[in-house]
Amino acid sequence: MSILAVGSIAFDSIATPAGRAENVLGGSATYFSLAASYFTDVRVVAVVGEDFTAENEQVLTKRGVDTRGIEHAKGKTFRWGGQYLENLNEAKTDFTDLNVFENFQPRIPAEYRDSQFLFLGNIHPSLQAAVRHEMDGVQLTGGDTMNFWIQGSRKELMETLKLVNVLLINDGEAKMLAGEKNLPRAAQKVLSLGPQALVIKHGEYGATIFFREGAFGIGRHPFRAPALPIEEVKDPTGAGDSFAGGFMGYIASQEQLNREVLKRALFYGGVMGSFAVERFGTERMQSLTREEIEARFQVFRELTHLE
Ligand code: AMP
Repeated sequence: MSILAVGSIAFDSIATPAGRAENVLGGSATYFSLAASYFTDVRVVAVVGEDFTAENEQVLTKRGVDTRGIEHAKGKTFRWGGQYLENLNEAKTDFTDLNVFENFQPRIPAEYRDSQFLFLGNIHPSLQAAVRHEMDGVQLTGGDTMNFWIQGSRKELMETLKLVNVLLINDGEAKMLAGEKNLPRAAQKVLSLGPQALVIKHGEYGATIFFREGAFGIGRHPFRAPALPIEEVKDPTGAGDSFAGGFMGYIASQEQLNREVLKRALFYGGVMGSFAVERFGTERMQSLTREEIEARFQVFRELTHLE
């Protein structure tokens, strides 16, 4: 099985209580693809500028990620600056320089068209919708967004939500999107906008999956997975996208989609998110092994199982 991922490729400037990093490779598509690459084949559609080097691209190709869908445009790569000095669970954005994203028209290589899974990473909702419309044959579409688009491009986002099967966002984003402070009520409201399932990430406290009545034939009661307690969080950037990569990657590696698979996917999402935060940028995501991933999955099971 293969996943087509569209999203941002970025140079991030990050400040956290553990230090700073300037212009390090990041972006939603980068973190997602690296995380998902441990489970299944991944193909990327994104845009970069002239400052994106062959070494930058090798970070993805070394993990077997198909980068033929990355467009090299004139100008600078997308740049994002943020800090987590007060709250490790929520980024405070310092700047968002769209650069080459301003004129980006996603083009999907012919070789990508047979992808069974699609992930619409965090970019302008109109770009997400354009890709979804071209990929009519996919079995399942996952999607992400953030406050920047919820506030700035709400109308376009509403259209995109109708095209997404599973939306993955954090608590604050869910509440903002729904205009509702109570989480279960916010979840039901978001589900009424299109998705059949909604994964709400609670930062260091784990994640909950909510289902629309009748979705996937598995009943509507939610399921929550904790997060592994990590003693040293260096850089939370990319935790959400790495979570999504583990979640979607695991689903794509399974033959069926049922409640048990979705529950385990939530755990694998947590495993990948927990690795991402241990180092600045994508460093930890580049050099994991399947054994390390399975060992941490077992620690997660141990954390929650009553026999
Ligand atoms: P997260 O996994 O939620 O921490 O997402 C982190 C990544 O999102 C960073 O590497 C940023 O480059 C990227 N990002 C931040 N803001 C935006 C935006 N408005 N559009 C696309 N990507 C963004």
